[in-house]
Amino acid sequence: MAERSLLMIPGPVEVSPGVLAAFSSPPPGHTAPALIAAFGEALESMRRVWLAEPSSQPFVVGGGGTAAMDMAVANLVSPGDRVVVVKTGYFSDRMAEMLRRQGAATLEVGAEPGDAPSPEEVQEALAAERAAGAPPCRALFATHVDTSTGVRIDPEPLARLAREHGMIAVFDGVCAAAGERFDMAAWDADVYLTASQKALGLPPGLALMVVSRRALAARAARSGTPPPMYLDWEAWQPVMRAYEERRAAYFSTPPTNLVLALAAGLAEIESEGAAARIASHARAAVALRAAWRVLGLRLLPAREDLVADTLSALLLPTATTEARSQAPERPGGAAIAGGGAEPPSAGSALADAPAVVARIAQHGVTVATGLLPDLRNRYFRVGHMGWVVGRPDLLRRTVAAVASGLRECGLGAGEQAERQALAALDQLPAKEAPVAAAAASP
Ligand code: PMP
Repeated sequence: MAERSLLMIPGPVEVSPGVLAAFSSPPPGHTAPALIAAFGEALESMRRVWLAEPSSQPFVVGGGGTAAMDMAVANLVSPGDRVVVVKTGYFSDRMAEMLRRQGAATLEVGAEPGDAPSPEEVQEALAAERAAGAPPCRALFATHVDTSTGVRIDPEPLARLAREHGMIAVFDGVCAAAGERFDMAAWDADVYLTASQKALGLPPGLALMVVSRRALAARAARSGTPPPMYLDWEAWQPVMRAYEERRAAYFSTPPTNLVLALAAGLAEIESEGAAARIASHARAAVALRAAWRVLGLRLLPAREDLVADTLSALLLPTATTEARSQAPERPGGAAIAGGGAEPPSAGSALADAPAVVARIAQHGVTVATGLLPDLRNRYFRVGHMGWVVGRPDLLRRTVAAVASGLRECGLGAGEQAERQALAALDQLPAKEAPVAAAAASP
């Protein structure tokens, strides 16, 4: 039987054998004792993994990241509200579009692809608006890691800015939660939302978020048309409370198998330690970046401090193999590749990125094409989140497939560089467990 391709896109991701086992039971009813226990444990665990206040409210709802975003918008924003959106790529563009559809007036503060506006720039944009007589902004929306660019922002100063301006602070953590540091209580953030198929390491299908007491109060104080029923926190809150009290409740049928998987996945994260799991993402990302560097790939994010640990957005090499083989040896150490997207006109790759992605797939590893239309032919994306970050063997397999794909497209860096790229992963602590069936089953 052919080996199943290893899924290294920025979500969905490989899941652990434990999560797979929890997910693969006959579906329990929403009143089954095992489901009630799992739901209650998952909600309690979310507060801990999010580092959220005891007074905050976790929500687990059938849907995905987009549903979670819609839920935050529908509960917090009314037509005519002014809101600020920090734009770092495709998913913050989506957030801005949702806010406009909700009838909000958006102040959008963006940057070039691969870059992010600084908190000072956001502050200046807010000040300029106020000076021009605009009413205050009600909420700030930002994407922790934008999956289209691999750009990670620092949420802490933005949350602080929100506090200073009396705004609710909403962070899309879909490509970050449980893979990047987010200290919800200490930063006094209001909503941190995600989806199951990313760094939590579960199958797709759940919209998850933790909401501060302040944000719940903002929903309660909202006048006018209520949010659509399925998105309304007030419809879901009694259900979440009931399960936390180990009682069943019904509003809309939950995806019960996913709730079992969620409890299992969170338990795995907590048994390792949520901070340790985040550190493991960072270690894997540093090693992978060293590998990409020796393979001649550059990161799309413009600066080191903007590079996410949950995925790599990689620009193809533009030089020919021959030209590069004459170039001085690249250092093989653990240095982080610099970055900076050249404008699309500068240089041209030998093969386009979709062709490279297709080649890599032939080596048993699925990576993703780029999402930014202007750069789509010049970059591709590798996800490294969830359970796989503790599996150097699977990361090595990924690097080997990328190296082969590049070579076969005429973009190889040479045998020695390929060896160095694989060696970059040797620094990662090896796990004892055998390669999981999850990564090798049909
Ligand atoms: N936000 C971000 C940052 C994402 O990466 C994604 C999915 N890639 C979404 C939102 C939307 O999530 P979904 O595809 O589950 O609707």
